Amino acid sequence: MASPPEFEQLTLCRLQGLKMLRLDTQFEIINLAAPKLFKVISPGELISKGTAACAGEASYDDLMLWLDESSADNHEQMISFPVGGFLLTGNTNIRCSTDATLLTNPKDTLVVQPGDVIAVRPGSTVVRVLYRRGANSNLLFMTDRCNSLCLMCSQPPKDVDDRWHIEENLKLIDLIDQGPEQLGISGGEPTLYREGLLAIIERAKKIIPEKSLHILSNGRLLSDATWVNDLERVNHLSLTWGVPLYADNAADHDNVVQAPGAFSETMAGLYNLHRANQKIEIRMVLSRLTTPRLPEWSHFVFRNLPFVHHVALMGIENTGLAKKNYEQLWIDPADYQKELNQAAFFLDIRGIAVSIYNLPLCVLDPVLGRFYRQSISDWKNLFIDACQTCSATDACAGFFKSHSTKWQSRNVHPLSVDDLVVMQGALHEIA
Ligand code: SF4
Repeated sequence: MASPPEFEQLTLCRLQGLKMLRLDTQFEIINLAAPKLFKVISPGELISKGTAACAGEASYDDLMLWLDESSADNHEQMISFPVGGFLLTGNTNIRCSTDATLLTNPKDTLVVQPGDVIAVRPGSTVVRVLYRRGANSNLLFMTDRCNSLCLMCSQPPKDVDDRWHIEENLKLIDLIDQGPEQLGISGGEPTLYREGLLAIIERAKKIIPEKSLHILSNGRLLSDATWVNDLERVNHLSLTWGVPLYADNAADHDNVVQAPGAFSETMAGLYNLHRANQKIEIRMVLSRLTTPRLPEWSHFVFRNLPFVHHVALMGIENTGLAKKNYEQLWIDPADYQKELNQAAFFLDIRGIAVSIYNLPLCVLDPVLGRFYRQSISDWKNLFIDACQTCSATDACAGFFKSHSTKWQSRNVHPLSVDDLVVMQGALHEIA
């Protein structure tokens, strides 16, 4: 496996009132000759399951035994277990006589837990968490490259050859937990590595058929009709493509994605996905550029893409290029509730499932509560001071970790239990 570049440092907050939890931390790392993925496993799980703790092919060399202070008296004995590595959670100067990889002295003891899959590489103290047991947002990250440059891109593309993600993801699929959950596949633009993406879908179908896949793609390369045969051949039964469509016309869409011709390519890609019997979610990011024509956009979607399974109407994430393009993008959600209402109900009464993501619940027109989903990934989720007396924190998506008052609606306010009851309609439905 080629050596990955330094992983972007991510600061995150799982839930209000809880400790900030990152997707990476630093350890002292000993005995590591090549980049490697490990499944972290507790002594109890090692004894009861062994390599069966992993969904796919794994050897004991893929396991890293997690030793906390509760088993400190037995560490010397456990260090002789025939696994690939040991993770000592305590701050210790222990130097063990083992050739296995040793992770000690973590900067943050909470970041890596049993069940997680981590990536390490020689010459770096950074430990990346690629899979977190129990998280709601596990993801196979494909690439930093993209063929668009959306004005609100939260993760600006990089012009790099990062095909090493393909091999890493194929191995990751083997090491994650079995059991139903949704796995995202994202980038960048995942279709840029076509063969790698198809191989990953095929492997997921074979190893973790119980998990649904959600691929986020701009759909442009899918305009090549040869994808139809490939996707029919792979035939993953629980795969959804999330494809953004930002306007009902080419000029506006191409402006948002900063790519002439993108609208035509994406529309052709959507028709090819339909021809290949794929499930499709249309995504719309709500901004000053997109919300004025939301009603017309919803008509366009229904008339031209009546086969889509789901429409996601999403608040903007105020990070990456969105910060640079604030003036073009920012509109207070309070100022587009009428258009949001028209678009959501127009599609809903015509049988297309609708969800509203990434907005504070309190800024929503109460009649839209039935479409609301608590959507922000647990590692990006943040609640602010105004939320401390709110009755809706269990139902609300809150804010992105990048939140700032510049991007805050004038309507953010604590909700009472009675307010919540009014909005209760579909709060507990799953999109
Ligand atoms: S105050 Fe608003 S943003 Fe905060 S938890 Fe309540 S509904 Fe959500």
